[in-house]
Amino acid sequence: MSESSLIAGPTEPVGRGSMALAMTLPPWRAASRSAGASSTAAPVASTTTMGRARLFDHALGAYLGLAIGDALGATVEFMTKREIAQRYGVFRDITGGGWLKLKPGQVTDDTTMCLALGDALLQGQRLGRPFDPQLMAEAFAAWWKGRPVDCGNTCRRGIMRFLNDGSIAGPPSDGDGGNGALMRNLPVALASIGRPDLLHSASLAQAHITHHHPLSDAATLSVGAMLHVLLGEPEPALALPACRAIADALVARHPPMRFVPYPGRASAYVVDTVQTVLHHFFAANDFESAVVGAVNQGDDADTTGALVGMLAGARFGAQALPRRWLNKLDHQTRLLITEQTAGLLALALAP
Ligand code: MN
Ligand code: MN
Repeated sequence: MSESSLIAGPTEPVGRGSMALAMTLPPWRAASRSAGASSTAAPVASTTTMGRARLFDHALGAYLGLAIGDALGATVEFMTKREIAQRYGVFRDITGGGWLKLKPGQVTDDTTMCLALGDALLQGQRLGRPFDPQLMAEAFAAWWKGRPVDCGNTCRRGIMRFLNDGSIAGPPSDGDGGNGALMRNLPVALASIGRPDLLHSASLAQAHITHHHPLSDAATLSVGAMLHVLLGEPEPALALPACRAIADALVARHPPMRFVPYPGRASAYVVDTVQTVLHHFFAANDFESAVVGAVNQGDDADTTGALVGMLAGARFGAQALPRRWLNKLDHQTRLLITEQTAGLLALALAP
């Protein structure tokens, strides 16, 4: 596929049955209507050709943004902020290397677990079993058997449990508060656009295969809801405040996640990850500075970079991604992401 076709999106409508989306007002729109606002809500943009093109561009921006943040941040994963500053000044180029000795543009588990989960959703659609947790668990197991470049401890434990006894959900555990379920939930958010109940159930289903913890659950659901707002709301003046309201509600329910003032920790503990991601997402006015800010905190830099890149990519769209980063991204990964984005949106818009 040519570069322009990768970015421009499909000229065909993204999905069959896009009218399904017209039936469902996004919750932040629905709320303003039920609150008695005269019916000024715009028609859901995704029912128009322009709306579908915008949706594809911003969904692709989220997915490619995630992969870019992963590929960039992996170089400095597990370094401290001070070590990064001493070595690079400001680290801002995709160069590979790092503790995983990556090729420039190579991605890690953050991106490849997303691709595995997205494959499971698309396979489920073909089999008439969309969002079946059994297929998700099988996809994670197949991913693991394919010798991924890395895998978090909690993810590995959950996948082993599935392989040993077939369980598709672990019991609640204090040890499951890592960011592994949060980092891979984008395909579920894309496939459930316009269907908040499905976002909720399918996000928890995929999460609990490896992570069963209230803070992991809360972060995964809130960030998923933020994605739905960023992708579904074409008016930037409405999207960002709606996102902020979701983040503030998360913090109100779970005060340790407070990210203002930013505590400065960027570990794989989901609280630290959420703080780093939300701080840099809301503090920046463009994709590049959001991602650069997050990865220069070091520690779990590939995952914070991936999540900030995902949110900022959803906000600004694929067209706004820095070319020098996009061109460095592993070409096969970029192709898989582009194909999968179209498939997941078609699943979301299917009747
Ligand atoms: Mn990783
Ligand atoms: Mn990581």
